[in-house]
Amino acid sequence: MNSSVGVSAVHSAPLEAPLLQPLWELVRSRQDCLRSPFFPVTFSLGVYLSFCLPYVALDLLAARLAFLRRYKIQDQNHPSLGMMACCVGRTLFNHLVYIFPLSVAHWYWRPVLLPDSAPELGRALLGIVACLLLFDFQYFVWHLLHHKVPWLYRTFHKVHHKYTATFALTTEHSGAWETLSLGFFAAVNPAILGCHPLTKLLFFVCNIWLSVEDHSGYDLPWSTHRLVPFGLYGGAPHHDLHHMKFKTNYAPYFTHWDKLLGTYSTLHSKSR
Ligand SMILES: [Zn+2]
Ligand SMILES: [Zn+2]
Repeated sequence: MNSSVGVSAVHSAPLEAPLLQPLWELVRSRQDCLRSPFFPVTFSLGVYLSFCLPYVALDLLAARLAFLRRYKIQDQNHPSLGMMACCVGRTLFNHLVYIFPLSVAHWYWRPVLLPDSAPELGRALLGIVACLLLFDFQYFVWHLLHHKVPWLYRTFHKVHHKYTATFALTTEHSGAWETLSLGFFAAVNPAILGCHPLTKLLFFVCNIWLSVEDHSGYDLPWSTHRLVPFGLYGGAPHHDLHHMKFKTNYAPYFTHWDKLLGTYSTLHSKSR
């Protein structure tokens, strides 16, 4: 799963400086970088690979250190370097061939505008959660459809199911249509909700992190699904089970859509 990035909305300045102002100033100090047509693709790729890196290290260590394997969801499966290289190759190809030309076109038609003021913290958090909930719903519908219609599965989604045991780098092991669909969902939500460019940027970072964590193959004590109460969030065990069994857990993050449609399963979720 992935997202491409563009920064465009303009907001009026509030009376007091918001808590996020220093962070926004820091972002604005890199204006040249933000306004570059290369920014969306390098940001997306850089953030994605940075989030994958700790899990790659964990995979290499877990193959040798038994105590780390207790956190692995499918502890008998270890990705080889060849499998990792195949995933990285596909990610680079997708970014270069599909995401880069589209982000340049977006940059050309929608110039980057950066307002003076940061968004209010509460408003930014609300915007991020709203974007995630919308993305979760959009991908749930897309995903369900691409499993229920055999032609859609064979043609577009099968490539993401190459590996039945997830590891972080499988996150973006997808074909062109899936890559572009997810990029579109991620890009359109902040625009629909009228988010501040900083909220948009933070949503992209959160979205990339959560999609990598989903595919990490690890159920760690600080995993997001353990921090969100009442089983509202599925996370890595939820999505790993989807890769293993195919017929359940279609929503990427939250559990409500699968629970409502009777496709929710927790079969091999470990409790510790
Ligand atoms: Zn699937
Ligand atoms: Zn997946």
